[in-house]
Amino acid sequence: MEALLGPGAVLSDPDELLVYESDGLTLFRALADFVVFPTSAEQVAALVKLASREGMPFVARGAGTGLSGGCLPAEGGLVISLMRMNRVLEVDYDNQVAIVEPGLVNLHLSWAVGPRGFYYAPDPSSQQACTIGGNIATNSGGPHTLKYGVTTNHVLGLEVVLPDGEIYWLGGKTRDAQGYDLVGLFVGSEGTFGIATKIAVRILRKPQAVKTVLAVFGRMDDASEAVSAIIGRGLIPAAMEMIDQLTIEAVEDAFGCGYPRDAAAALLIELDGLAVGMEAQAERVIQ
Ligand SMILES: Cc1cc2nc3c(=O)[nH]c(=O)nc-3n(C[C@H](O)[C@H](O)[C@H](O)COP(=O)(O)OP(=O)(O)OC[C@H]3O[C@@H](n4cnc5c(N)ncnc54)[C@H](O)[C@@H]3O)c2cc1C
Repeated sequence: MEALLGPGAVLSDPDELLVYESDGLTLFRALADFVVFPTSAEQVAALVKLASREGMPFVARGAGTGLSGGCLPAEGGLVISLMRMNRVLEVDYDNQVAIVEPGLVNLHLSWAVGPRGFYYAPDPSSQQACTIGGNIATNSGGPHTLKYGVTTNHVLGLEVVLPDGEIYWLGGKTRDAQGYDLVGLFVGSEGTFGIATKIAVRILRKPQAVKTVLAVFGRMDDASEAVSAIIGRGLIPAAMEMIDQLTIEAVEDAFGCGYPRDAAAALLIELDGLAVGMEAQAERVIQ
């Protein structure tokens, strides 16, 4: 493997392997025999071919923030870390498409395109650490899922290395690629169909205006009913998060944000869109 990847790209020392023995779910641990750090699709393909030839199980790993042990090696074998494939390869602002490598940290894409007024919408709470490759495998979503959908709604195409080491493109750079929706099949497949090595994603224009409403309730049921009432009025906030009393207390102890400690529940409602009409939209939510 060192011959394939060059020096400094293969770990086999048990002390170093320990770092990769679990993900965000630390209840489960498993040591790999090797952790490798390819820097191209061709290297990933060569590793996969080698692993299949040697009968060595392999698994892809992004940032290891997963909460289900998905990137853990089953019985020793090979962990293929994509963390050194972390570049934004191409951005087409006119068509709102970016081509990225799988080890790119989710938030770094929004940082890269932010100065031109764009962002990448899927925002799992782990977005400061998790990778777009990991997001693809788990079809991640975040608070803004309500209006903008989850990862699958933002992926147009994928370059993947299949279990036999062949490299294929699924989908393309447009929303309506012809043929079967193989991208849709791959996204959310937890790395079981192959390893994504390039990803074409949609980038969106940042909204012109954002307004956040905090609603406080004496009963949890009232907060739940307010959620239904807002949606029932045809309003789709960018995000709507409910916090119960226990969480309010914990947040206040830790950060002192100013939430009323005696509230049974609070709703954080984020509205976005055109500046014109934003106040009217907020009024309708408050009503
Ligand atoms: C504090 C915290 C908050 C979180 N919040 C959210 C949240 O709001 N929403 C949410 O959806 N999740 C959340 N998660 C879970 C986790 O962050 C996501 O599942 C994330 O998408 C995992 O990305 P990762 O790069 O860490 O992937 P990893 O944990 O490294 O891997 C996850 C899976 O992806 C596979 N994989 C990784 N890279 C590739 C690739 N290139 N090709 C194919 N398969 C690959 C792995 O084999 C594994 O099965 C949270 C986790 C933490 C710790």
